[in-house]
Amino acid sequence: MNPQDRLKILSSDMDFELAEDHNCPKIDSKKKYSGFVHDAVMPNGKTIPLLKTLLTSACERDCHYCPFRAGRNFRRTTLKPDEMAQVFIGMHRAGIVEGLFLSSGLIGGGVSTQDRLLDTAQILRQKLGFKGYLHLKIMPGVEFDQVEQALRLANRVSINLEAPNAKRLDILAPHKHFSDELIKPLKWINKIRSANSNKTGWNGRWPSVATQFVVGGAGESDVELLTTTEYLYQELKLRRAYYSPFNPVKDTPLESQPATNLQRESRLYQASFLIRDYGFSMEELPFNQQGNLPHDSDPKLSWAKLHLSNNPIEINDASKEELLRIPGIGPKGAAVLLSERNKNRMTTTEELRKIGINPLRVAPFILINGFRPTRQLSFL
Ligand code: SF4
Repeated sequence: MNPQDRLKILSSDMDFELAEDHNCPKIDSKKKYSGFVHDAVMPNGKTIPLLKTLLTSACERDCHYCPFRAGRNFRRTTLKPDEMAQVFIGMHRAGIVEGLFLSSGLIGGGVSTQDRLLDTAQILRQKLGFKGYLHLKIMPGVEFDQVEQALRLANRVSINLEAPNAKRLDILAPHKHFSDELIKPLKWINKIRSANSNKTGWNGRWPSVATQFVVGGAGESDVELLTTTEYLYQELKLRRAYYSPFNPVKDTPLESQPATNLQRESRLYQASFLIRDYGFSMEELPFNQQGNLPHDSDPKLSWAKLHLSNNPIEINDASKEELLRIPGIGPKGAAVLLSERNKNRMTTTEELRKIGINPLRVAPFILINGFRPTRQLSFL
């Protein structure tokens, strides 16, 4: 089988992997490759066609949820680093893809597997002159020097924790070591980035760092997931945690476990953004007694109903942190509002609408120039 055909197999196997914001498979005139090029949102907000692929779908580990686990009967294939680099650069030069997301099953241990990923990246950057987006996976059990090398080659690196702690990881992947194999490389990344100028990174910038959790596969609560997420954002400067709802895979030990409700995924993202961008602490999130977020309401709205309905915020005097607590106002809206009210004191809901803030959403929680906006809105 030629490298292009093997790449098609490897890339279509990646459909379960969600470590970039991707929309839907790209279906257009580039028929030869359609189905495994994804429109992906980059860390800078731009959308590009991204090839997501594995170097090999063979794996020596037996993680309980994973379609690639050792011993599972399905067609497996492999590309060598040079083959992968050549096929990818051909697609890139033909204008089919702009970026590469490269992962791998584990063969010969984490160190050897990481070497092959790094070899591919080096061929692309140094021999073939590829300057575009490159997301490299860091394998469990890698060495410090390999992490350092990945940071010099990639625009983004990621290490999938899969579970929020060692006890839960034991259910999903009993042969992975949470602390030694997964958290340790994340700590190294933080150490390398703090100790060295970002000029050392690819194109003069350190890559952003992400992780992924398999949600609902190990009976974990939202509190467990978000406690670890908070630690990663605050202590290890993670850029993004992804929540991938558990989906049972045939012929795996977890095949009879139910799939995770997609609403749970959406609430976890909302809560994680409240922690990362809005200054919320874990104690302020509306967990139930089982440590889970309600599925039927946005966590920011739940908080605001409890705390702001009777204590509305005066939008002319509020700090940025206070504005961010109001449902309907995000970081951009808060910045525009702060700048506009420096020019003129706000007096009507129409002024809010003009700067892109939906008056109906914010109305129950604010005062404008000392008054509840309800009366103005009743005339709309
Ligand atoms: S090591 Fe990775 S590819 Fe291999 S079984 Fe575990 S999750 Fe799957």
